Amino acid sequence: MSSLEITKIKRLVDKKIEHLSQRIREISHTIYENPELGLSEFKAADLLIKELESHGYSIERNVAGLSTAFKASKGNLGEPTVGLIAEYDALPDLGHACGHNIISASAVGAAMGLADFLNITGGRVVVFGTPNEEGATAEGGKLTDVESQVRGKVKMVESGIFKDIDAVMEIHPYVKTTLTPDFLALIPVKISFTGKPAHAAAAPEMGVNALEAIILTFNSINSLRQHLRSDTRIHGIITEGGEAPNIVPEKTSALFYLRASDKKYLEEVLMKVKKCAEGASIATGAILDFHPSSYSLTNMINNKTLCKFFEKNLIELGMEIDELERHEHLGSSDIGNVSYVVPAIQPLIAVGEKDIAIHSREFGKATISKKGDQSLILATKALAFTFLDLMVDKEIFHKIKMEHKASFQF
Ligand SMILES: [Zn+2]
Ligand SMILES: [Zn+2]
Repeated sequence: MSSLEITKIKRLVDKKIEHLSQRIREISHTIYENPELGLSEFKAADLLIKELESHGYSIERNVAGLSTAFKASKGNLGEPTVGLIAEYDALPDLGHACGHNIISASAVGAAMGLADFLNITGGRVVVFGTPNEEGATAEGGKLTDVESQVRGKVKMVESGIFKDIDAVMEIHPYVKTTLTPDFLALIPVKISFTGKPAHAAAAPEMGVNALEAIILTFNSINSLRQHLRSDTRIHGIITEGGEAPNIVPEKTSALFYLRASDKKYLEEVLMKVKKCAEGASIATGAILDFHPSSYSLTNMINNKTLCKFFEKNLIELGMEIDELERHEHLGSSDIGNVSYVVPAIQPLIAVGEKDIAIHSREFGKATISKKGDQSLILATKALAFTFLDLMVDKEIFHKIKMEHKASFQF
């Protein structure tokens, strides 16, 4: 397709999305008003699937063994395929305080907007419904282990579902608009100690104190912090701290999240934290069980070649781009794992005032405010227009993939 032809189609897609805008806003608001925790997002998944089906997308449910995951495809087989990511899980107590209602409505909205034009533009659109980004499972119970929180995209990557995809796009709402935010690699770790119970006053010399081992571990990690790279984050909670003050604690456990801006350095951090726990074990005599989770989140590799197209569209649509602070990290996300297997972007789109914290009730409300609705439609258009730009010269996918490959040569 020539760029002139694509410019014409852009105008038609723009009109189509304007025409669908009321429905796209309704999707966002309905999901916001019916928050569901990770792995139980049945209403949201059903709503999105119905919408995509009515625009001619063929649906695969239960992908990667996840009952609320889906894949919706439309377009030309054997042609460049662009994935759009829809997240729709909420947070315990706070509802859609991370704004995943905007993520799913924009992805599905862009797919709806493009549906009638794929036979002209070529290419293929696949919407991935990806549950449980937050790792807050439906049980909603207190987190006590590091294996039950497997994020949807981690499983989906393992299943090989992204293997035929050439590029992936997802937007995330935030209080600023920025194109290539950092997401940190993350390893959850469970640290447990087993000591020996004894009467804490009558026979303390007979006991081995597993709580002291946990406390020493926290203190050693605090001593370590000064000597770690500034992008490192280590934060933990004690999930088991003993039974009663008059018993020397026999069993204790803590859960930690270790994060850093790259996977390789994070593995070094993991070894250092392990030494802190081993030291506490030697000092107290309590037996250590150091258990890193079998899954981890990787850092995000932002594909700049792909992002340039998104940026141009965002600016043309009138969105101002904000600067992030030098060390403004946004936690971690399983989109990082996707970015390791397929070129990907996850720009952030401002929906609220800059002084609101993400993961707060105020932020959730901002996603359905007037500004939230406007940003939603704008992001929907930017996603759809970027797909159209990629269809001008399909050789661009070669460049996108070369950059992706090069990002692993460090
Ligand atoms: Zn979140
Ligand atoms: Zn989020």
